[in-house]
This record gives sequence, C-alpha cells and structure tokens, in this order.
Amino acid sequence: MPEIRTRCVIVGGGPAGMMTGYLLARAGVDVAVLEKHSDFNRDFRGDTIHPSTLELLHELGLLDEFLKLPHQEMKQLKGIFNGHAVTMTDFSRLRTHCQFIAFMPQWDFLNFFAAKARCFPSFALHMQHEVIDLIFESGRVAGVRAKNPEGELAFRADLVIGADGRHATTHTRAGFEIQELGVPIDALWMHISRRPGDPDQLFGFFRNGKLLVLINRDDYYQAGFVIPKGGIEAIKEKGLPFLQSEIVALAPFLRDRIAALDDWSKIKLLTVQINRLRKWCREGLLCIGDSAHAMSPAGGVGINLALQDAVATANLLAAKLKTGPVSVADLEKVQKRREWPTRVIQAMQVFIHRRVVTGRETESGDSLPLFVRLLQWFPFMSGLPARLIGIGPRPEHIRSPAMVPDV
Ligand SMILES: Cc1cc2nc3c(=O)[nH]c(=O)nc-3n(C[C@H](O)[C@H](O)[C@H](O)COP(=O)(O)OP(=O)(O)OC[C@H]3O[C@@H](n4cnc5c(N)ncnc54)[C@H](O)[C@@H]3O)c2cc1C
Repeated sequence: MPEIRTRCVIVGGGPAGMMTGYLLARAGVDVAVLEKHSDFNRDFRGDTIHPSTLELLHELGLLDEFLKLPHQEMKQLKGIFNGHAVTMTDFSRLRTHCQFIAFMPQWDFLNFFAAKARCFPSFALHMQHEVIDLIFESGRVAGVRAKNPEGELAFRADLVIGADGRHATTHTRAGFEIQELGVPIDALWMHISRRPGDPDQLFGFFRNGKLLVLINRDDYYQAGFVIPKGGIEAIKEKGLPFLQSEIVALAPFLRDRIAALDDWSKIKLLTVQINRLRKWCREGLLCIGDSAHAMSPAGGVGINLALQDAVATANLLAAKLKTGPVSVADLEKVQKRREWPTRVIQAMQVFIHRRVVTGRETESGDSLPLFVRLLQWFPFMSGLPARLIGIGPRPEHIRSPAMVPDV
C-alpha cells in the first residue's frame, strides 16, 4: 500500500478540520486534510458564521476579504411566540468587530479557508479520501488508512486529528466512549421561496409546541420544521398537504407558495443528536468538533464550537508539533480547555429542546413562555443569549504562530 508521511493528518474537511488545517499550516506544521467528498457543496450543513468567528477572521487579517463573499447579516434573532413578536437575541451590544451573524453557504466558507491554507507550502488537502481505519502501532495511533478512487493508501503521522463529524470513523475505531444526551426532536429541512416584502429578520415561529425556523437566503428561505424524534413516518402517512398546512399555520405569509413543496424529495430529514466523548484523545489521536461532541441545530452554534476547538487545538499544539510529536498530556489540555464550553452550550441546547421547542413553554394558549417574559421584564438579560450564541463561553483568540504565506 502506498504510504504518505506527514506530521499531522486531519480526518474531515468540515469547519473544524479546515480551520485546524489552515492554522497548523500557517504555523509551518506539515499537515494533510483528508475529506471523503469530492467538493464542499452539500446543503443543510449549517450556514451560520457567528460574531466570534468573524472576530477570528479579523485577528487573522482576513475579515474584509471574507465579507466580500455574498452573505446576509442578521443583527437580531426574532421569534413569533404564540403570535407575539419577540426579539430573542440582539447582537448589537457585543464588543466584537461584527455585531451580526453572517449567513453564508458553508461551502463558500470552506472553499475560502481551503484557498487560504493552500498558500502555505506545508498544507495538503486530499479530496475524495475517505478514512476507513486507524493504524495502531504499539498501542498508539500512528496514522490512518484511506481509500480514494484509485485504491487504498496509508497516511502516517505523529498526530491524527479526528474532525470527521458526528458519525466519526476516528472516535469509533479508537473505541472512545460516547455519552448520549437524549434529544426529543428531528428536523425537516427544505427551501421555500422568498418574495419582496417578506420579513427578513424573522427567525423562529413557535406555537402549540411546534417550531418553524426560517433563515433568509435572499431569494429563498432555508426552512427547518421540527418534528418529534422518529416522527417522520407518521407525518408521511398524513401526507404532504398536512405538512404544508402545519407550516402555513405557523407562518401564514407562506400560504401563496407552499404548494411548491410538492414532493418528499424536496424535504430532507436530519436526525438531531447531542452527545460527547468522555475522553477526546489517546496517544497519537485527538477528536474535536462534532467528532468529540455532536451538536443539535438549536441556537445554530455547532459550527462556532467546532471552530473554537480548532483555534484552541492550534494554540496549544502548533508550536510543539512544528518540531516533533506531542504527548497525550498535551492533547488532554485541549479537552480540558474545550470541555467546559461544550458542556455549557449542550446544556443550553437541552434546555431549548425541552422548554422551548417541544412544548411546555409554547404549547398552551396565547401567552408568552416564561423565559420570554423574563427577557421582556429584565431587558438586560437579553445580553445573555446574544453572548452565548454570538460568542459562546470561553472564546478563543488566535495565539498560534504564523509563517508568511506564499501569496
Ligand atoms: C440539521 C442540523 C442543522 C444544523 N444547523 C446548524 C447551523 O445552522 N449552525 C451551526 O452552527 N451548526 C448547525 N448544526 C451543527 C453543525 O452542523 C455541526 O456542529 C458542525 O458542522 C460541526 O463541524 P465539524 O467540522 O466538527 O463536523 P462536520 O461539519 O460534520 O464535518 C465533518 C467532515 O468530515 C467528513 N468526513 C466524515 N467522515 C469522514 C471520513 N471517514 N474520511 C474523510 N472525511 C470524512 C465529512 O464529509 C465532513 O466534511 C446543525 C446540525 C444539524 C444536525
């Protein structure tokens, strides 16, 4: 089997993998990112770029160029709770360069970082390389086996970083134990056309324990309709007109175009999970992002957390990796730094699922849920969701060393 030797192999070219690859290459570390798909063009992956990520781009000197890519800016997250319009989150008071969430197709974000990373000679991106196993030597992870259209090959490295998402080969093959935090929901994702005059900063429609999320993508909404976990078959039995009427009941202005959702192939089921690994690392392997902690779409914070893991990984490991291997104690420092923010955000997501999405708070009458009334009574509290969602606990800053890029 052909073999490639490098300092660090990153499995997965999602947000966590591409950002880590970029930062390690920027620090002069030989790094190879292996991505199983041939491109980044996949829909419904989460297209949110948070104020904290925009801050990182500023610290990297890339913000102005990045914001030239087509995007929409959402300064507030507004919800309609049982018919009442409520500003749930207002980013305008954050102390960051950008006080908004930028909505941008995730493939644009990933292509941007791939192009920037390629300016560093120590960076390699291997598309259509699916990692099928880890290579173990004397009990430590010494690399990965991957397959591409030509066959199989081995990548040997001092460190393998598992950034391969929630169904990770890396954490499965390493035998890591996963703690599941039960999730009562799944989500149906679809495109619904957008017309001039439609509301642009509306986000969530809550009524009778049901939730519709509409994300403004200019000429269409990316729409998410939350259903009970495993409830897709029951909905299919009731038929498409039933689903259409459920959506229109939450957002009546969609009535004139909902008929375009005329085939189940236009509706994707995305199963929602929240879990985390007890141990994120062992000798030669570190898992980050969804591979270490699968996130729900609630709050749209999974990408942010994955990127923050990437920055912490580079901050803590890049300088050492440039000159040699890192120890398991070094890898544990990454888990120690990032586990607490993960726990806080996952607790927030569990709260949103239990109290906001699946009922109790929104299922009865026309009243506002308690937490929304609290936000109205004590406006200063609205800074908390803005900070939690826009920045997250324990924000990371770029501290890893930088080489001068070739271009
Ligand atoms: C329905 C839904 C909607 C969401 N919406 C949002 C949102 O709006 N905003 C938000 O912030 N978060 C959202 N999230 C969460 C978010 O998608 C994740 O938290 C985030 O993508 C994690 O990034 P990652 O890089 O760790 O993993 P991923 O984004 O999952 O990337 C993993 C990468 O690894 C590749 N890969 C997997 N296995 C292999 C292999 N064996 N070999 C090589 N490559 C491999 C995959 O192709 C992929 O490119 C949503 C989640 C769900 C389920």
